[in-house]
Amino acid sequence: MTEQVNLTFNDLGLPDAILKAVLELGYETPSPIQLAAIPPMMAGKDILGQAQTGTGKTAAFSLPLLANLEPEVRTVQALVLAPTRELAQQVAEAIETYGKYLKGLRVLSIYGGAAFGPQLRALERGVNVVVGTPGRIMDHLRRGTLKLDDLRTLVLDEADEMLRMGFQEDVEWIMGHVPDTRQTALLSATMPPFIRKLVDNYLEDPERIQITPKKQTVETVQQSYWLVSHHHKLDAFGHLLDRVEYDAAICFVRTRDAADELANTLRARGHAASSLHGDMQQRERDRAVDALKNGDLDIIIATDVAARGLDVPRISLVVNYDIPTDPEAYVHRIGRTGRAGREGQAILLVTPRERRLLQTIERVTSQRLDVFKLPSADEVGNRRVAALFSQIDQQLEKQDLSFYLQLVNQFLGERGNDPDLLASALLSLLQKEEDLRPKEVPNLSAPDRGRDGRRDRPERGERPERGRRRESDVPMASYRVEVGRQHGVKPGNLVGAIANEAGLESRYIGNIRLNDGFSLVDLPADVPADIFNHLKKVRVCGVPLNISRDTGPAGGDRSGRSRSYRNDRSERSDRPRTDRPRGDRPQRTPRPRDF
Ligand code: ADP
Ligand code: MG
Repeated sequence: MTEQVNLTFNDLGLPDAILKAVLELGYETPSPIQLAAIPPMMAGKDILGQAQTGTGKTAAFSLPLLANLEPEVRTVQALVLAPTRELAQQVAEAIETYGKYLKGLRVLSIYGGAAFGPQLRALERGVNVVVGTPGRIMDHLRRGTLKLDDLRTLVLDEADEMLRMGFQEDVEWIMGHVPDTRQTALLSATMPPFIRKLVDNYLEDPERIQITPKKQTVETVQQSYWLVSHHHKLDAFGHLLDRVEYDAAICFVRTRDAADELANTLRARGHAASSLHGDMQQRERDRAVDALKNGDLDIIIATDVAARGLDVPRISLVVNYDIPTDPEAYVHRIGRTGRAGREGQAILLVTPRERRLLQTIERVTSQRLDVFKLPSADEVGNRRVAALFSQIDQQLEKQDLSFYLQLVNQFLGERGNDPDLLASALLSLLQKEEDLRPKEVPNLSAPDRGRDGRRDRPERGERPERGRRRESDVPMASYRVEVGRQHGVKPGNLVGAIANEAGLESRYIGNIRLNDGFSLVDLPADVPADIFNHLKKVRVCGVPLNISRDTGPAGGDRSGRSRSYRNDRSERSDRPRTDRPRGDRPQRTPRPRDF
């Protein structure tokens, strides 16, 4: 988010029913892609939007798409193409959520592998929005079961991925079979040449939106991340506040409710904490900021909007409790500390599913974040003892202690005690033992499998592509599928079907050799039995794959006629899919990493 942007969702002209749902989700401000895409889409224009993962592209196209349709008319008015079944489901769910107050709205997701029957019945009853994978959408269009005469908006979500997965022809076919009057929105994280071609051929004078986050580093701020599972976040945060040394802290969360809730929790635990968010009156906000400045408050739990531009020199710690979805927000957040060249510390809590967002932040800020290490009980204890000692030193230096000396002498005279014992008793009155010597806490870090060997990786720029690196990590084997050239199969069909149906990222699909009656495909050697059995039934070009482990040319029908296709990973791998934030996609099948 850029500083000059102060527009809210209210300013975008969205219908009240949609605004209500968005506000209910706790979204405070539109993300940059949303700001840029919503107005032109509402006006019926085509858009070409390029922004990284996690920047809110779904709402960027869904909100205007919903605003432009009439739910009471039972026709398909919006069609969203997505590369995988998971993404299709996820987008459909999001659209349903954004459209929950649109009376009668019907959203349907359609993808391969699922039975036709229920999809047909839903289509017959009438739906307003269809979200699906290209192959199955094409099937329905061909059969005439999906009618697009009334289509107003066509969306290609994750277009680069869709084309990389071999859906290029299907997508083009679909684009050739939709009414010319529709608007088209194409969203993509990258813009390889084949996307540009698609844009030139099928989009009409599109509004070109490219969100390139600005590079910005804050050198005096030490930045680290802590990978914790979702349900350990609060615990981790509590220990972090106990053990990290700070003067004042600001902690960022995604929504106002979360801010209030966390502030309440901290207060209940004895912290001087308050929330700071857009729902509060200006007066209340000022009061909280003043209290932080003068030390009446130590912790503020804020949303991005409310904390924008906040300048409190005491802030020496920024905690990203919720990872920002917009990498620029990260830069603004950590800018709340390390002001005027002071030292600051920024700690980012990341759940395993959000790892992809962490990478985006690292890319955008052109720096690698350290792994956060919770200070050990000993470290904390030593620090506190040292602080106590220095307090005593100061007291010895500057106070006139004659009155107290007299008391000590009197006490020792009457009781006959050891001075050591007396001093110990006094210290114990001053400090509780557990405050000085904290207990060890269990390790809360989530396993960081995705970042193995992180430290050994070469510097940015010459780092080998992750996709390529992993490729060799997985033992591959040759599989036979019973669909071949005579059925009209193309390598892309196989990649698309297997990737979708096995939940397998396309780079794990190796060489493909097409023969007349069958084909050979290299896949991970360890495909789990349930996926394997499912793949047997999957149809490509109308023929069940009936996949089996390839046992070699025993049948002798593998004459020199087979042609080998390389599943072009060099192109696929520029967007490793393993690390997409998984938070919002159902995990249906084990990913290759689990194989
Ligand atoms: P993308 O498609 O760009 O990868 P998504 O649309 O999946 O990103 O959004 C990522 C996350 O950000 C989702 O959890 C979504 O609910 C959240 N989100 C989207 N827009 C906003 C916003 N304006 N404010 C807060 N959170 C948002
Ligand atoms: Mg998306």
